[in-house]
Order: sequence, then C-alpha cells, then structure tokens
Amino acid sequence: MTTARALHLVSRPEGLPKDSDFEMREAAPVELQDGQIRIAVKYLSIDPAMRVWMTEAKSYWPPVALGEVMRSAGIGEVIESKNEKFEVGSWASGMTGARSELVSEGKGMQRFDASKLPHPGWALSIFGATGLTAYFGLTDIGHPKAGEVLVVSAAAGAVGSAVVQMGKALGLRVIGVAGGADKCAFVKDILGADEAIDYKNENISAALRRHCPDGIDVYFDNVGGEILDAVLKRLKLKARIVLCGGISQYNATGEIRGPANYLSLISARGRMEGFVVLDYLHRAEEAMAAMTPWVKAGKLSSKLDIVEGLENFPEAMRRLYAGANFGKQLVKL
Ligand code: NDP
Repeated sequence: MTTARALHLVSRPEGLPKDSDFEMREAAPVELQDGQIRIAVKYLSIDPAMRVWMTEAKSYWPPVALGEVMRSAGIGEVIESKNEKFEVGSWASGMTGARSELVSEGKGMQRFDASKLPHPGWALSIFGATGLTAYFGLTDIGHPKAGEVLVVSAAAGAVGSAVVQMGKALGLRVIGVAGGADKCAFVKDILGADEAIDYKNENISAALRRHCPDGIDVYFDNVGGEILDAVLKRLKLKARIVLCGGISQYNATGEIRGPANYLSLISARGRMEGFVVLDYLHRAEEAMAAMTPWVKAGKLSSKLDIVEGLENFPEAMRRLYAGANFGKQLVKL
C-alpha cells in the first residue's frame, strides 16, 4: 500500500484558478473493508465547468467545499478488491476526485474494457461524458436534419470536435469556430468541417456572413459571449441554439456578458435551450449504439491532450481557458 495524494481546494479563485487555490495532501493508506475496492487513478478529466464548481455559484452540482478534494471525473485500475463486481486489473471510471488513489464501495463507478479502446482516455472523451454531451446536445436539443447548417464553437476542443464530426456523419453542412490557424486546419482537414473560422484573427460576423449566406439552423454553443451574439444575428427560421457551455464567461470577475442580440430569436421563431449531460446518463447506451459505428467507420475520433502529474492539475485547467488544449484535456497520474 502506498501513500495516496490528493489535491484539496483551499481557496475560491478570483479570475483564473491559481496553484495556490489548491493544496496537495498525503493520506496514510487505509485497510479495505468488505465490499470496497482500491483504484489507482490513471487519468483525470479536466473540464471547463470545474471553474464553476470552485465558486459558490448555484449550479447543477453543489460547490466543492473548501478543504474538500477537488471534484473530477477519472479512470483507473483496480489494484485491490474486496468487491466481487470489480476484480483486480479491471478498469473503472467515475467521479474519482483529483486524487492518486480512491477507496470506494464501487457505487457510481462503471467498469470498462480499456483493451477495446484506442486509448483508455477515450473512456473520458468520446465514450465518456464528453461524447454524451456532444451527442445528446446535438440530437436532443439541436434536432439536426441532413442538409442543415450547423455552427460549432470551441470546435477543436473535446465536445466541439465530437459535435463537428457527428454533424458531418448526420449529413449537415458544418462550420467550426476555433482559435488559431492550427486548430482551424485541424477542424477542416481532420474533423471534416466544411469551413473553419479563426475567431482570434477574423471578424466573426463577417466570416459567418460569408460561410452561412442563408443563415444558421443549429448553433452548438460552447463559449457564449461575442460568438453567440454574432450567431444570433444570422439565424434561419426555426433555428435552434444548443446552450452547452459559456467558457468565455467562466473566469469573469464582474458581470457575465449576456446575449445582446437575443431579440432576433423572436423574428426567427428560434429557440435557445440549455442542457446538462447528467440528465442523459441513463440513455448512455443509446448514444454508444449511435457512436460506435461512426468510430468503426472512421467518422468519429478523439484527440487527447495529456498533461503529466497531479501537481499540474491547476495548469491543465488554465490551459482550457487559454485555448492551449488541443482536444480532450486529461491529466495523467
Ligand atoms: P474544450 O476542450 O472545448 O476546451 C475549452 C476550449 O474553449 C479551449 O480549447 C478554447 O478553444 C475555447 N475557449 C476558451 N476561452 C474562450 C473564449 N474566451 N472564447 C472562445 N473560446 C474559448 O472543453 P470541453 O469540450 O470540455 O467543454 C466545452 C464546453 O462544453 C464548455 O463550455 C463546457 O463547460 C461545456 N460542457 C457542458 C456540459 C453540459 O452538460 N452542458 C458537459 C461538458 C462540457 P480555442 O482555442 O478554440 O479558443
């Protein structure tokens, strides 16, 4: 038995999360009780919403309390077991928290076969909450139809890159919005978007006018702010805006920027709807049934961006807000 390490939240950040908002603490090994398993955590999922969980803001989950281990999804290998559902050597995923080792009754942990995935990290990307977010946000909230125009923001990120590929698989014309030439090349050349807009170097309104001359049917919004406002000006009749996230606002220290152009939803008879992936967990098999053939056909893949070391968890978080991550941000332990 080794000494486990865990990253505790010790202060609520102002603006970007800092290293000093966390404290690494060691815990003495504990004996397993009947029914328990010990998981060596191998990868942690880094999610933009973590910044929200660190505040006292009302959200779909309670805030992480000061002193608590930072909330995080993770995957790991069972290294000791007194629970017949999890044998030693099996892999499990769930809300492990930002820790090197988890002792658990197995409740809320899902077993998966890592040998069947291109990389175990896929259990946190396409075949985890990221894939479910992309799939149900697009299909259940976006109601896409073949031939329609889909715009996706943060298109080179974890959720966005999945939405771009799913949009193409469903026969839509897809325009991805991402920061920088490299990411835009990836969105077009690798993910297969019809067009990519570099919002950091192009005027987003002018680019949307050029690429969507007849308007936008579905907008999958990961960022909010200026891009959402630009899209609102170009809605087609009965357009749907999928409110998945608003990363451009997560570190705001003042008022959050709301959509200035929302009145265009009236003339477009449009709809803007938020959703939380947790409400779809019970339908995971439905998403897997749709996504697996796309993966097998090479239409859906996942790029992983891996930072090493639990101590680099805060830096991995900051990468998301700087746009330094390329694909799904993970921390490897
Ligand atoms: P990503 O992998 O997409 O990483 C975040 C990306 O956001 C960055 O790479 C960056 O890309 C972009 N970004 C950062 N700041 C800005 C900004 N100011 N303006 C525009 N783009 C910005 O993260 P995820 O795929 O994990 O998450 C994407 C979104 O989905 C987030 O908003 C997240 O909160 C949300 N989400 C929602 C869920 C739900 O249930 N509703 C579940 C999971 C995620 P670039 O370099 O292109 O700027």
